Amino acid sequence: MSTTPAPSCPFCAIPESAWLGQNELAFWVHDIAPSAPGHALVIPRRHVASFFELVPEERSGMLALLNEAKIVADERYRPDGYNIGLNDGEVAGQTVPHVHLHLIPRRAGDVPDPRGGVRWVLPETAPYWNR
Ligand code: AMP
Ligand code: ZN
Repeated sequence: MSTTPAPSCPFCAIPESAWLGQNELAFWVHDIAPSAPGHALVIPRRHVASFFELVPEERSGMLALLNEAKIVADERYRPDGYNIGLNDGEVAGQTVPHVHLHLIPRRAGDVPDPRGGVRWVLPETAPYWNR
């Protein structure tokens, strides 16, 4: 599988020395502008934009590192929960066109009412319990 870096892709430009973990097909780093302490990104080595372009082995590699990043975050930050998210496509909020899975540690009380979590990407319909 070709892992030719894409010019001007910020994730292809992250040096291996900055990776916090890696396997044959993926790596993980901390987000440069974290939503919360320990916010991590799990990224396939291969530059592809969409999760749906990945082969199953790449997805498995990413999930193994998601688990690794979670264990590290548990130890370092002791959060109370996590959001796991992937923006696929510009209309879905993706700003870097190289697949990445967000792991966002959460703390009790970090927002007044956390119900709905990732449903808040579409705020109008997020609070389903009000319907
Ligand atoms: P998205 O909007 O899902 O495409 O998310 C892009 C994420 O990449 C944002 O959370 C950025 O803060 C993060 N980001 C951009 N450049 C870098 C970088 N060089 N290293 C780590 N995180 C980055
Ligand atoms: Zn890239």
